[in-house]
Amino acid sequence: MSSTPKYRRVLLKVSGEALMGGQAFGIDIATVDRIAADVKEAKEAGTQHCMVIGGGNIFRGLSAAAKGIDRSTADYMGMLATVMNALAMQAALERIGVESRVQSAIPMSAVCEPYIRRRALRHLEKGRVVIFAAGTGNPFFTTDTAAALRAAEMSCNALLKGTKVDGVYSSDPVKVPTAERYAALSYHDVLARDLKVMDASAVSLSRENKIPIIVFSINDRGALAAVLRGEGRATVIGESA
Ligand code: UDP
Repeated sequence: MSSTPKYRRVLLKVSGEALMGGQAFGIDIATVDRIAADVKEAKEAGTQHCMVIGGGNIFRGLSAAAKGIDRSTADYMGMLATVMNALAMQAALERIGVESRVQSAIPMSAVCEPYIRRRALRHLEKGRVVIFAAGTGNPFFTTDTAAALRAAEMSCNALLKGTKVDGVYSSDPVKVPTAERYAALSYHDVLARDLKVMDASAVSLSRENKIPIIVFSINDRGALAAVLRGEGRATVIGESA
């Protein structure tokens, strides 16, 4: 165990789709277990962890709105989907002995704690993983923005964005084999070039609060701990590239 981890406290953002594994929809328990094992390993190195999980594997407000549900209602449904994912992650963490708490931005007292900033900080100090559910609690936002907001509120040293690939590329590396991977980018680059890393409000919020965004692959077992040691493949987004 390292006494001085590179990052004291981080927020890990995982999209809902990352929980699907090979499935087309929903929650693949083996995948959730793998991510939980990664969090456990990274936490044991001495970093405090909080998490935001998306809901796109279950429900996406924008596409439901396009089909006729009014946008705010559809977005509330999307936020509820994130609560299911948070509970799945909590169960996976607790199966491997990692204490965790779910805090929802929409109070749901029979299911989990409401979001209370100071209480979340106490949980983190006690070594618990805090999973923030229901996004920001507001329609017309995304869980990326929720992640940037909670990372700022929790005074996190980094916002880790777990994606399908090991960083930010010049074009989609799945479609363009010659696509270049960036080791570092500035917030300005990401915003000006409209690089699809996180939505613009999440990037702006992180920039204002000087929280670096680290993009890495959530599909590579052990990548999270490696990134937190300052090793491994990732793109670091900060004030200067
Ligand atoms: N959502 C919302 N407000 C928030 C966060 C999420 O309305 O603060 C809704 C929105 O409808 C979104 C859905 O919840 O489509 C799922 O979140 P998101 O699309 O960010 O999940 P991800 O793409 O990360 O899986």
